[in-house]
Amino acid sequence: MPKFKLNIGIAGAGICGLVAGIELLHAGHRVSIFESSQRTGGRIETIDVGGIWIETGPEFIHGHLQETIRLLKKYRISFKPIHGKMYRISQGRISENYEMADGWDQLLNKMKSIKEDLPLNQFLGKYFPGNEFDELKKSAIRFAEGFDLADTKRASTKALIAEWEHEESGQFHIPSGYGALIHAAENEFTNLGGKIFLNHRVKRIDWESDVINIWVNDQTEFHLDKLIITLPLSLLNQTTPSSESLLFNPSIDEKQRAFSQIGFGTVVKIVMTWHSPFWQKIIPDAHFIITDEFIPTWWIQYPQNIPVLTGWLGGPRAEQYSDSPDSFFLEKALENLSSLFSVTMEKIKQELKDVRIFNWKNNPWSRGAYSYSLVGSGPAKAICRESIQNRIYFAGEAYYDGPFPGTVESAVVSGMETAKQLLKEH
Ligand SMILES: Cc1cc2nc3c(=O)[nH]c(=O)nc-3n(C[C@H](O)[C@H](O)[C@H](O)COP(=O)(O)OP(=O)(O)OC[C@H]3O[C@@H](n4cnc5c(N)ncnc54)[C@H](O)[C@@H]3O)c2cc1C
Repeated sequence: MPKFKLNIGIAGAGICGLVAGIELLHAGHRVSIFESSQRTGGRIETIDVGGIWIETGPEFIHGHLQETIRLLKKYRISFKPIHGKMYRISQGRISENYEMADGWDQLLNKMKSIKEDLPLNQFLGKYFPGNEFDELKKSAIRFAEGFDLADTKRASTKALIAEWEHEESGQFHIPSGYGALIHAAENEFTNLGGKIFLNHRVKRIDWESDVINIWVNDQTEFHLDKLIITLPLSLLNQTTPSSESLLFNPSIDEKQRAFSQIGFGTVVKIVMTWHSPFWQKIIPDAHFIITDEFIPTWWIQYPQNIPVLTGWLGGPRAEQYSDSPDSFFLEKALENLSSLFSVTMEKIKQELKDVRIFNWKNNPWSRGAYSYSLVGSGPAKAICRESIQNRIYFAGEAYYDGPFPGTVESAVVSGMETAKQLLKEH
């Protein structure tokens, strides 16, 4: 038991907040989590659609990720490797075992070797100037936009290569869904005596005096010794204000400058359930499909024989169309699939059983999907990780400094590290 039991608050019950809370409860402190929505999990949510588990947010474990796998093993949640091939379908031509464009290795080597960081577009213009590299440049931009959700006019070349280098280490998925991880972590947190206040939106933080006062919903006030804020970066960065933004009194100008130097991208995820897996005759062993259509990436739940296709529109294009109604994305998805598999629109509409469209920019509690690094994000993240007077801490996927940004792993690592830092600074 610690000499002084601290009264610690955590804003946000995503995986980062839960993991940090568990660590602090184990150290003997009193911990309360204040969560704005009516559920825990934040960007992680697994829902049941007619007996099939679908993920509104994260779905993959991108490699042998130490902390994610440690948690899954601790909670006895099974995870399975993903097999299946990557296909490219372009102008009616189907190519199996899709490879990156010619010169991809040369591109990666050059990205690794640069001394001074540059935004990706500038890097490509400087080192791959000729038309002969057009396909290569298009591939690099497509990958950065689609996978990292990055605006390539601003995204850091050095950060992208640090991440892309780790891409080859295999992928996994969780058959019962990432939601099982949240369920288990929430159980551990409450069994250890932690309290979770759902529908408790933290609106304002007064931190001038010795005690931190947080204002929740309209007028409820809580007094805390220490506070960890795990809200998505988008809700903290005042250069992208929204009605859900958090207010600080006094203001936190240095942190605000740092928040604005980290990128945050968005995605529209379209999960379509079908009466039958009509694509199987054409590409029976596909996992990923890369296309030149409006929705450029699709995946299949291979090797599970589940009639679900997931479409992914990420990065600046998802941002550009984020005000569009769901019917717009549905129409585009149907048109794209009809063209890819040469099936009439009429037939494809008949095959469709259910569709769920997750336009993350419109999610009030994240206003986007996940972060990416701009040139200069490294030092900015370091500033965010420093506490304010050993009392207020920022944690979450956006402040992680390592090779797996924008992932569940990065949120878990950040939660653990922040809890340890708080205990050290006690
Ligand atoms: C579409 C999508 C696909 C993804 N795919 C993958 C993937 O395949 N693999 C992978 O590893 N990662 C993936 N990710 C990233 C991963 O989901 C996130 O990095 C991770 O879940 C972030 O966790 P967090 O705890 O930092 O933030 P969050 O989960 O966002 O938690 C923050 C919490 O704060 C709450 N909150 C917001 N405002 C307030 C307020 N004012 N007061 C109180 N609470 C508040 C929110 O409701 C939320 O519960 C994906 C994300 C998305 C959106």
